[in-house]
Amino acid sequence: MGMCPLCNGFEILQLACPNCGNGLEDSGRLMDYYDDYSPYMPIDQMKLEDGYPTDERLGQCPHLCKCQNCGYDEIKFVNE
Ligand SMILES: [Zn+2]
Ligand SMILES: [Zn+2]
Repeated sequence: MGMCPLCNGFEILQLACPNCGNGLEDSGRLMDYYDDYSPYMPIDQMKLEDGYPTDERLGQCPHLCKCQNCGYDEIKFVNE
């Protein structure tokens, strides 16, 4: 594992939901969720195809960020 500041607890997620303005919650590394989520594909396919396969090479840690208020989610690539 790299030195992702979110995974290591150095930083907390500070993003607002673009839909409702509620604070997005860091739901952890995308890799931890990928197997569970893949049958349903709720995550934008383009983001996965464009970003996920290369995250190891880029030194970025993909986090699933979710809004508990409206259900919005997005993937944030955190620089390690
Ligand atoms: Zn991380
Ligand atoms: Zn929201």
